Amino acid sequence: MSASIIDGKAIAQETRERIKAQVAELTFLPGLAVVQVGDDPASTRYVSHKQKDCEQVGIYSEKHHLPETTSQSELLDTIRGLNARSEIHGIIVQLPLPNGLDSHVAINAIDIRKDVDGCTTANLGELVSGNERLVPCTPRGTITLIQSTGMTFEGKKAVVIGRSILVGKPVALLMLNRHAVVTLCHSRTPDLGAEAREADILVVAAGRRGLVTGGMIKPGAVVIDVGINVVEGKLKGDVDFESAKEVAGHITPVPGGVGPMTRAMLLENTLIAAKMQAAGD
Ligand code: NAP
Repeated sequence: MSASIIDGKAIAQETRERIKAQVAELTFLPGLAVVQVGDDPASTRYVSHKQKDCEQVGIYSEKHHLPETTSQSELLDTIRGLNARSEIHGIIVQLPLPNGLDSHVAINAIDIRKDVDGCTTANLGELVSGNERLVPCTPRGTITLIQSTGMTFEGKKAVVIGRSILVGKPVALLMLNRHAVVTLCHSRTPDLGAEAREADILVVAAGRRGLVTGGMIKPGAVVIDVGINVVEGKLKGDVDFESAKEVAGHITPVPGGVGPMTRAMLLENTLIAAKMQAAGD
């Protein structure tokens, strides 16, 4: 039997509609600032998506486009200026930064209440402590997609492939906070297939095209493919969709799965940040 396809586009659309309705009820306009340094074409595209998404739900956005030659202290001045503005509730520094700029320092200069990417050390520390305030967007979207299938977390075996600070680790922590029994795999995991085959919930975020095949999936599992690989100009995931869909119970496509949810979760985080700041948190 073929798996149900988890429609990330449709779930993202529902999420945007819910956010739009909530924004309309506020007595103020939530504001997002995106800082881009240099002219990396992919970054320019992502920033324009973010601004378009904001427009759709009624969130104010502004872009701060700094030249490639920007120094670390100029970048920090821009971030601190945005920290000080009460009408800006969320700040994003678009990565990667040009060589010579320290992204860790830049991210951690963001006021943690405005850290809508959830990437400051302080917000990640909150997540480790079990406090989910501003959580990274892709992991938050991953949880929403799993929940959309009706799958629960408590006592379930969840396997995450990939341990990056932006995706793998936060996804694992979010599932751990929901009482799943979590295994975190990486490039030194001796038998990836054996680990993956145990999973009721399998999240793959390795950036390796076709790493997970149908034979590595437990029948009926929920499979979330975070991976994005460009193959002959087309986007492909880390999961071999054709063989996986014959075994999994639910599976995300690439494109149209995690990607749209990541975008929607940025809007959700901006709304959460705006509400927290309005409440004086
Ligand atoms: P990353 O920082 O490169 O981390 C990749 C992780 O995968 C590492 O922990 C690495 O292990 C592990 N890995 C690599 N090859 C492996 C293998 N053969 N077996 C087991 N583990 C392996 O990547 P990332 O930022 O987490 O992103 C992962 C993927 O998700 C990428 O394709 C990225 O483009 C995509 N992504 C998608 C979205 C979205 O919105 N859809 C958002 C973010 C990222 P080690 O730690 O041992 O090196």
